[in-house]
Amino acid sequence: MPTGPTRKTKQRDAVRAVLGAAERPLSIDELLKAASRRADGLGVATVYRAVALLLDEGWIEAVEIPGEPARYERSDKGHHHHFQCEKCDRAFDIAGCLDNLRKLAPPKFRVKEHSVTLYGLCAACAA
Ligand SMILES: [Zn+2]
Ligand SMILES: [Zn+2]
Repeated sequence: MPTGPTRKTKQRDAVRAVLGAAERPLSIDELLKAASRRADGLGVATVYRAVALLLDEGWIEAVEIPGEPARYERSDKGHHHHFQCEKCDRAFDIAGCLDNLRKLAPPKFRVKEHSVTLYGLCAACAA
């Protein structure tokens, strides 16, 4: 009997494809909605499992914005930060960082990491 990709594999591939093409971090709900267009019968449990596998592989990482559900993005994007739209609740990438952030720390303090999130209205919501 020929063995093609299983339904579960197709569903996982759909989640991977959505994250591969995404230009901004996506929540589980957003992933479910987008991946459902590529794979029939996709459920939230399958999306969670696919995300857990991709996190294990190191192919994606979680984006944690305080008070927000976790979002996920590819790990290969390099150092960057995020913009959170207060109206449509979407998160967007912002390019780069501020070179002098670490200079804000008091003398002799050692900065290990930082997080920066901008809040406001995205272009669509501001229009
Ligand atoms: Zn918006
Ligand atoms: Zn930074």
